[in-house]
Amino acid sequence: MGALETLSIMGMPVHSGTHYADWLLLRQQQGLGAQVITLNAEMAMQADRNPQLKHLIQTIELVIPDGAGIVLYFRLKGKRIRRSPGIELAEALLSAPGERTAFFFGAAPGTAEAAARVWQQRCPHLSVVGTQHGYLTPEDADALVEQLQAKQPQLIFVALGVPRQEFWIAEHRHLCPHSIWVGVGGSFDIWAGTKDRAPAWFCEHHLEWLYRLYQEPWRWRRMLALPKFAIRALTYSGYSDST
Ligand code: UDP
Repeated sequence: MGALETLSIMGMPVHSGTHYADWLLLRQQQGLGAQVITLNAEMAMQADRNPQLKHLIQTIELVIPDGAGIVLYFRLKGKRIRRSPGIELAEALLSAPGERTAFFFGAAPGTAEAAARVWQQRCPHLSVVGTQHGYLTPEDADALVEQLQAKQPQLIFVALGVPRQEFWIAEHRHLCPHSIWVGVGGSFDIWAGTKDRAPAWFCEHHLEWLYRLYQEPWRWRRMLALPKFAIRALTYSGYSDST
């Protein structure tokens, strides 16, 4: 397993490597938990405007390059890195060899359960010890905290959208200090079959965002972040940016 190389974009770290799941699981064997952020252009732009989000990205254990914009930025800077979609990291963690417990929190009612059923069937060595949809009443929130504290799942996936899931994890990770916590956006919807992932051709040509726009046209306004990101990233002159 190779070491991770820390790069920098707009004053934020990006860890480049190939075996993130192994890296996280090895750390976990050593008793160390982690929060993972899957950085894309839209999130980098949010962080540029939101110092709290930027600070979180600067301080957590692992930031993976999820998004064509991030990869293309480094390519323009002469550094080739591999894109690592968050959903693929989550899948690698769930299907890694060995007995493992997981918890799925987020998405619409029914979706986390459906996603959990898919994974229980796919991986007999995996035990999804709990699910909770992402539209909590105060009572649900208390019950969720109790469940997490009691079950100490090894993998905790949180699908509340960016940046709500990142802040929620930061606030609650002390409940399960040895867990691997990952904000997974729309992954439960994809596992449950309520949304599709872009076909491979789109991913290979860095056009996953275009497929997403076709599936969810109401996102067009959010996607205006992409050209703004290109300008901001390439003209950013923070003290720590380097490749
Ligand atoms: N979601 C949720 N609670 C909320 C808001 C959103 O559980 O209060 C879920 C939503 O149902 C969806 C996921 O969060 O399953 C967000 O997915 P999206 O693809 O929009 O993630 P993003 O692109 O924002 O990371």
